[in-house]
Amino acid sequence: MFRDFISLIFPQNCINCQQSLNSEEKFLCISCKIDLPFTNDFQNKENDLFKKFSFESKIKSAGAYMYFYHGGVAQKLLYHLKYHGKKEIGFILGKWLALRLSQNRYDLVIPVPLHKSKLRKRTFNQSAEIALGVAEHVNAEINTELIERIISTKSQTRKSKVERWANMQNVYSKIGVDLSGKSILVVDDVITTGATVGMLCERLVEANVESIHIAAVARGK
Ligand SMILES: [Zn+2]
Repeated sequence: MFRDFISLIFPQNCINCQQSLNSEEKFLCISCKIDLPFTNDFQNKENDLFKKFSFESKIKSAGAYMYFYHGGVAQKLLYHLKYHGKKEIGFILGKWLALRLSQNRYDLVIPVPLHKSKLRKRTFNQSAEIALGVAEHVNAEINTELIERIISTKSQTRKSKVERWANMQNVYSKIGVDLSGKSILVVDDVITTGATVGMLCERLVEANVESIHIAAVARGK
């Protein structure tokens, strides 16, 4: 029990394979790090994720660092980040993600916001922790207040399909400032359908941004 207690404070095992870590390794052992299910999104502009956003010409690129599988390593990492409050995982994932980006000039990094009820429950936004790591690497300003999530997924599930669709238009608050000429990097933890990120991008377009780039830690295949 004592050992469990100690390892809870100082996680010494790989989140993926449970093997003990050396002092150089963080959260993942080196072999699990090398074996991550990487995408080649950042080498292939016309990747499957980018295709989801082809409706909006201001979205210039989209990519995820790795694939998300149920029971896979991305799920384990993000679980520890979200539910065990291991914010450092977010920061490190953000740095890894930033190293893949083909462009390095952004005016603003915007993490996909959580609805305030979720934020209250979880106390922090996992995407904001990832964005901190990204922003530091690309040397850009991060803004978590520009846009707010005003409709939660929970309130959405109680509605009919038609109501949900109508509601989608207002998932995020309108942006009160003009962002003319700005290049924005939107950072998310996992992208599945891309529907909500798409709505966020619509708000950015309304605020006259110059270009939008989307980067996520993981995505569905
Ligand atoms: Zn491992």
